[in-house]
Formats: sequence, C-alpha cells, structure tokens
Amino acid sequence: MNVVLGLDGLDALVGVLREEGHVVIGPVLRDDAITLAELSSAADLPSGWGVETGPGHYRVREREDAAVFGHSAGPQSWKRFLHPPRRTLVSSDSTGFHAARDDTPDYAFLGVRPCDLAAIAKLRQIVASKLPFVVAAQCTEPGEVCFCTSMGCGPGAGDGYDIALTERLDADGHRFLATPGTEAGAAVLDRLPGRVATKQDVALAEQDVATAARRMGRALPEVDLRDLLAANRDSAHWEAVAQRCLTCGNCTMVCPTCFCVSVEDTTDLDGNAERAERWASCFEIDFSHLHGGAVRTSGAARYRQWMTHKLGTWHDQFGTSGCVGCGRCIAWCPAGIDITEEAAALSQTTEHGGERR
Ligand code: SF4
Ligand code: SF4
Repeated sequence: MNVVLGLDGLDALVGVLREEGHVVIGPVLRDDAITLAELSSAADLPSGWGVETGPGHYRVREREDAAVFGHSAGPQSWKRFLHPPRRTLVSSDSTGFHAARDDTPDYAFLGVRPCDLAAIAKLRQIVASKLPFVVAAQCTEPGEVCFCTSMGCGPGAGDGYDIALTERLDADGHRFLATPGTEAGAAVLDRLPGRVATKQDVALAEQDVATAARRMGRALPEVDLRDLLAANRDSAHWEAVAQRCLTCGNCTMVCPTCFCVSVEDTTDLDGNAERAERWASCFEIDFSHLHGGAVRTSGAARYRQWMTHKLGTWHDQFGTSGCVGCGRCIAWCPAGIDITEEAAALSQTTEHGGERR
C-alpha cells in the first residue's frame, strides 16, 4: 500500500531502520559537496541544498525550497560501501596467517537515485556483498550531466528497492509518496506515521517523474553502441580524445559500476604482513602490464579501453551496459570530457565515413 509521509515520517523512517540494527547511509552536505555518510536522523539530510553540474564542473547551491533529495549524483557512489576502496584479504604475523573477516555492517541505503539503484544491481553481479535495505528516491529533477533515460535506468526507480520515495513540495506541503517494493519495505512503512496515498498522490508523483524524463539534457546516440565501438577500434577519434585526456582515472573512481582492483602486499619490520585489494583504474599505465611491460601505453588506447568496456564489451561479459547514465564521469573529469559527446562523435564519423582509418 502506498503511503504519504511528512518530514516526521521521514525522520521516523531513519529511526526505525536504526532500531532494526541497520547502519543508515544517506546524502549529507560535507566538504562543499553532497557526499554519503551515516545518518543519525533525517536532520542530517541536505535539506535546501542542490547542485549545479556540467562538464568538469560541480558546485553545491542553496535551493529556494527545503527539498532533501533535490540534488543529482555526487562525487561518491554506494560502490564505496559495497566494494570498499581498500580491503584486507589476508594478513600474517608471528602466530600465522589470518583470513580477513567480513565485517560489513548491515547497511540501509536511504536516498538511492534510480541510476544508482541500477548501478548497485550491476555491481552485485560482480562483487559479493551483503544485500542492503534500499530506500530509493525517485528523480524529479535531473542534473545537467544526467542521461539515465537513454540508458533505461531512470528517472523512475526500477527493480531492487525496498521502499521508493517521491518527494513533492507544493501548496499542500512537503511530503513523500512511499511505495513498498518488498515485504520488508511494507513492514517498515507500517510502523511509520503517515496517511494512505490517494490516486491523486500517485498521479502527481508519476507526472513529476515523467517531467524529469523530458528534462534530461543529454543522451547517448541511439545506435548499437557495442557494434559502434567494435567497428571503431582504429578510429582516429581516439587520438583526438587523448589530446585532452590527462589519464588521471577520475572517471573510473567516481563511476558507480567500475569495479577493477589491484592487489598489493605490505610488510613491516616487526614481521607483520598484509595482502589487500584496492580500487584500480584502467587509466593507470601498469593496469595492462603483461610480461615485458604495459600493452596500453598511450592515452588513446586507455580511453578507448575504458569506453569500449563500459558501453560495449560489458554486454558480452554481463549481458548489459556498464553505464547507468549518472553523469559523474562528465562532472568530475578535469578536462570536461563528456562520454555522450565522444560516443556521438564516433557515431557521426562512422556515418560519414571520412575520419576512420
Ligand atoms: S577522461 Fe577525464 S577523468 Fe577520465 S582519465 Fe581522462 S581526464 Fe581523467
Ligand atoms: S560511465 Fe559515467 S555516466 Fe556511465 S555510470 Fe559510469 S560515471 Fe556514470
């Protein structure tokens, strides 16, 4: 049953999830960005804060209303909780070897945008992780770099949530339509103060999400991207991108689905040793090190690898695209490189035939 929650209901939601033993993670305003951190109450949410984004651009801004989910994807994603940046695999000391224990908390994620809901599903195909309790926040206000509609990953929430919220502020007040997605979600909603939703509440939420879809400013070209990238392995366009790309790897670090890791061993003078995995990037020169050296030495080869895997060969590996259209790689690229523009440029040079070699 859909219910309508007020701000007291949202606060009660955080409280109930904490009472049930979850570590509740949600968006907070910190370090001039909307980041993700543990919530002790709904007061920790970034009420009244939005963001402006663009290629190589991200700024928080004060909103004219008190929306708590009125911001698009920030620099962090839920990946850091399901697939931590550094994780000990095994350690040893004078007493022997010790396998790392899985001490992942029982998370509840609150405010998961639909693009990130899709990213969590993709990531869980690859990395083993406990299933968190998920409260999605349907998107009614896309950011300037978002393109989830063209990836089929938003702005409405797809599968995988326990509760989906749709926020609305108007003359009738500040409220959240809460839709259960699982029995566990319905049981939590039963414990919250709220009222049964009317057909009008549901219609308004659907209308807000449909309006967000129409306001999506970017899209990937409507071509078979897997075929496009396979056909453009030798395109001159990769060199053109490499003129701008710094091979810094920011795009891979902020991407909610990039999952590559490197393994490193450390020792100290007391005889302790540790083997750990840490996030790695296909933009690192050593990432493609085989016998004799790296096989992708140029920036052009490394950008091609990233984009070809993300939009093309991911389909062969996992039966889906690796991109959910969150736009983070565009906003956090210091050179402002835009994956939608690069795909469009490849598509045009292929159509017109002249720039391929
Ligand atoms: S595309 Fe941008 S973010 Fe990615 S490696 Fe190149 S410069 Fe860095
Ligand atoms: S490739 Fe870019 S837009 Fe796509 S999921 Fe990764 S960060 Fe988001």
